[in-house]
Order: sequence, then structure tokens, then C-alpha cells
Amino acid sequence: MLMQEERELVVEYGRKMSTDRLSTGTSGNISVCNAEKGLMAISPSGMDYFSTTPEDVVITDLEANIVDGVRKPSSEWALHTAFYRHKPHARAVVHTHSMYCTTFAVLGQPLRAVHYAIGDTGAATVPCAPYRLFGTAELAEAAIEACGGSDAVLLGNHGLVACGRDLKSAYGLACNLEYVAELQYRTMCIGTPNILTDEQMAEVMERFRSYGQPGSGKAGY
Ligand code: 13P
Ligand code: ZN
Repeated sequence: MLMQEERELVVEYGRKMSTDRLSTGTSGNISVCNAEKGLMAISPSGMDYFSTTPEDVVITDLEANIVDGVRKPSSEWALHTAFYRHKPHARAVVHTHSMYCTTFAVLGQPLRAVHYAIGDTGAATVPCAPYRLFGTAELAEAAIEACGGSDAVLLGNHGLVACGRDLKSAYGLACNLEYVAELQYRTMCIGTPNILTDEQMAEVMERFRSYGQPGSGKAGY
């Protein structure tokens, strides 16, 4: 099977996304890019994550031409390919409708540096893109435009997109941002959160460069 390893990862993390409550029903989607082949493995559209098998995962090129697979690819294929085209380090993309990130996306408010873990995105804020219809090129365009130097962006009235150098890191980022969004929400309920300054965040990002075990390539949580 073409890109078996990537297909298996898409299945494994789709299930995790459901169990970790980052997505409800068939919302959200996942892809892994094989840069040498110029192909991506992307979750099938509208399929239950627990009944999805590696054969259901679709292999497409970066224009979403199907190269292998019998299913219809995720309706957000343009969102995923936009990240691969505009973020050269990205090898995986995770899109969720997780509750707290989506809460701020509905308010049209960015995630702020209420906790230094936001530095995992490579930036001090996670911007919010304006609302666009799901599954459209307009949504992909708005997301990439709003994203700037961050590895993640909120989608107005919709959810979150996060990318990373591999699926573990993109998924980890989506989890961390849900944590930051929950903290932002909770602190706003009972007061006014302290926001870390740009200088403090620059220091965090510098420190993340040497975080973890030497040679692990880990640049955040
Ligand atoms: P798909 O099931 O087509 O991947 O769509 C889910 C979604 O979240 C659309 O934004
Ligand atoms: Zn969605």
C-alpha cells in the first residue's frame, strides 16, 4: 500500500483526536505530507474515526489529485495543502473543532500569551482568521493569510488548524493550544489575565530551541 506508514499514522491520530475530545463526530481532519514524494495522506471525508482503516486514507498530490485510495478525501484538502505550500517545515496538519479554541474562534479573538506554552507555535499569539465557508479555497486562503509566522491559526466560527514537523508535533501543538485556550477562557471568567510581553515570549522561544533531550529535534511541548 502506497505510504502505508503515513496512512497508519492518520488512522491512529484520528482516533486519538476523538478520544482526547478535540473533535466531535466526524469533525476535524488530519494529514501527513511525504515531501520527497510530493504527496500527502489525508483522512477521508465524513468517516467515523473508529471505523476508518489505512485503506480509507486517501493519497493525493498537493493539488489534491487522488493518487491512491477509494474514498473521497477530506473536504478541507485545500486548507492542508495551503499549509504545506506556505510552511516549508510542515510535514503534518491537524484541524480540530476543540471546545476552547473554537470558543475564541467564535468571538473572533486570538489566543494570547496567557501561558508561555503558546510559544510552541513559534509566535506569541494565535491569530483568528475571518469566517469562511468550510471546505473552500477561500477558507484556506484566509487561514494562511491570518496565520503569519505562527504554526497555528483559529478559523472564525469554526475551529483550529495546527502544523508541525511531524504528526506527533502538530497533534501536540493542537493539544497545547486547547490548554492555553481553556486557561485564557477560565482566567477571563474571574479576572483579567496577565499577558506575557513580546520580550518574555522571545526568551521562551529561544529556550524552547534547546528544550528536551539533545538531538530530539523537539522545539516545544
Ligand atoms: P471532513 O470530514 O470532510 O474532513 O470535514 C470535517 C471538517 O471539520 C470540515 O471543516
Ligand atoms: Zn472543520
